[in-house]
Amino acid sequence: MFPRVILNGTLIKKSQQKKKISPCNYKERFFVLDTQDLKYSERRLGKKPTLKGSIQLSTIKCVEAVITDVPIPCNYKYPFQVFYDNYYLYIFAPDNDCRQTWIKALKEETKQNNLVTKFHPNFWINGKWECCQQKQKLATGCRVYDPVDFASKKPLPQTPESKMEFPYGGHQTVIALQDYTPQEDDHLPLQKHHEYVLINSCSSDCWTIQDDKGNVGLVPCTYITEKYGKNFERFMWYNKNMTRGKAEDLLMKEGKEGGFMVRDSSQAGFYTVSVFTRAPGPNMEKNPRVKHYQIRQTETKPASFYLADKYLFNTIPELILYHQHNAAGLITRLRHPITPNGAYSQEVSHSPQDQWEEIKPEELTLGQELGSGQFGVVVEGKWREKKVAVKMMKEGFISEEDFKDEAKVTMKLFHCKLVQLYGVCTQRSPICLVFEFMHNGCLSDYLKTRRGRLSPNVMLGMCLDVCEGMAYLESSNFIHRDLAARNCLVSKNNEVKVSDFGMTRFVFDDQYTSSQCSKFPVKWSPPEVLRYSKFSSKSDVWSFGVVMWEVYNEGRFPYENRTNAEVMDSLNAGQRLLMPRLAPKSVHLLMEECWEEKPEDRPTFAVLLHELASLSDL
Ligand code: ADP
Repeated sequence: MFPRVILNGTLIKKSQQKKKISPCNYKERFFVLDTQDLKYSERRLGKKPTLKGSIQLSTIKCVEAVITDVPIPCNYKYPFQVFYDNYYLYIFAPDNDCRQTWIKALKEETKQNNLVTKFHPNFWINGKWECCQQKQKLATGCRVYDPVDFASKKPLPQTPESKMEFPYGGHQTVIALQDYTPQEDDHLPLQKHHEYVLINSCSSDCWTIQDDKGNVGLVPCTYITEKYGKNFERFMWYNKNMTRGKAEDLLMKEGKEGGFMVRDSSQAGFYTVSVFTRAPGPNMEKNPRVKHYQIRQTETKPASFYLADKYLFNTIPELILYHQHNAAGLITRLRHPITPNGAYSQEVSHSPQDQWEEIKPEELTLGQELGSGQFGVVVEGKWREKKVAVKMMKEGFISEEDFKDEAKVTMKLFHCKLVQLYGVCTQRSPICLVFEFMHNGCLSDYLKTRRGRLSPNVMLGMCLDVCEGMAYLESSNFIHRDLAARNCLVSKNNEVKVSDFGMTRFVFDDQYTSSQCSKFPVKWSPPEVLRYSKFSSKSDVWSFGVVMWEVYNEGRFPYENRTNAEVMDSLNAGQRLLMPRLAPKSVHLLMEECWEEKPEDRPTFAVLLHELASLSDL
């Protein structure tokens, strides 16, 4: 029987320096964890993947995060360790969520092993352990090892709502809603989704918490949410005793698109989101109105929460934060919390790192034109000694106010399979976006110019690259909305990266944003987007199926010369794109899964990534 793949993805591995003289380096590797081994291989486009190493899970004695302030000399900044036989393997993840996912999975698979009782929480560097200064690499660790992942421990039963009764032995667990970099000495940094212990919640602005290293400090109370219990008073968006009628009056009076509030529902123990919109109604009428959505709960224990789409969140503040950035099934995104005294806040968040990198015009040198797209001209440029691509936005084409708000979110998305946005230059008009330079241009042109020369293995590698970038967006609850080969770019070493994510939200021109209009990407869109503009990660999955089709058709245009209306008719009749000549049956089956009529029947990107990886001969 073949081992079952549990997890895979690109991580950076530090050389193990098993011999004293072997070099110290950091290399990107594609890791696969299955039920028997942890394998890593080198993947380069145009070449067969080469297996570089394999660790039998039965030899693993400890898997744990490395907590350090030693500078990390590679792009991925979240290290963890795998101690097996007598060796330490240090692996670096791109973000904390990714690191926790790997640690959790590895711990789960190795929990029956002969494990260490103590481990080293910091690195072995320059002949000693950073944590305890011991000088023998195999010296016993200095911290007790817990083979069960903290996050997966069974929560204790939920206690009645109260500030003083905490499920964890007198202390309440809180989760960071977003990252926080303190400016003051007595404040503590936060990492999104990380858990902390709440020590004191008496102050109205800042609460005292403790991190897993034992550091205690203050954080803004709206940046954290209780893991259990519902105490939302501190959030601007919560109006406890507001009736439906009063909420409507208030929201209509403010008249702000996306003005919203969360209030107690008439059904006890439930909550309702009320939101104001001027968006066109079913008959295209533009009547201002208020819509109410009850926050739904799953029947699991503890319950998860969701709104219009079935995106599940552990807490209501996480759900609200998500919908502040994504309409995802709501009539409009939740833009401005409205309170009874009429004040509203323009900002979704205001941590210092939420400010995007403002690029000064004098730091930017512009060169020759690279191409032009729907947003404007793209030129080559130089910024801080780096070659960059500068997108000069067409004037009046996008909502600059909204865009500036959202660029902060986009800039927080870091992944090796996403084209990175370095910053925005708003001091010149039109505004410019400065991106990582991608030497080989857009994927659709790349495919066309290499027709007849791309092997099936290379094509699979391209699909895997795009899928990896999309799996990251999916895990960040971010919807692309316009995934297509023309919106993927190819790097110098032929790696494919996803670009232009979320950009269509800022476009004013109905021709691009209304599915009935000529410039809408109908041929990449699923039925629910064409019918009700219902975007989700599952609508991205449909588009990904079309991208796979484009790859295996060497950059041909889907549905050839058929008009958008003809395509819609054929989709309604249940027809789909035909199997590309160059696609193996197994890949075509995956495409068909992406084109399931109902979004919930389509696989997630995480599942697609497993399935595609299992097709590549590692
Ligand atoms: P738009 O988003 O306005 O539609 P595109 O992203 O399609 O524009 O860019 C137009 C062209 O500019 C692309 O086809 C590609 O050749 C070039 N280009 C865009 N971004 C980059 C980049 N980051 N690096 C190199 N070339 C790029």
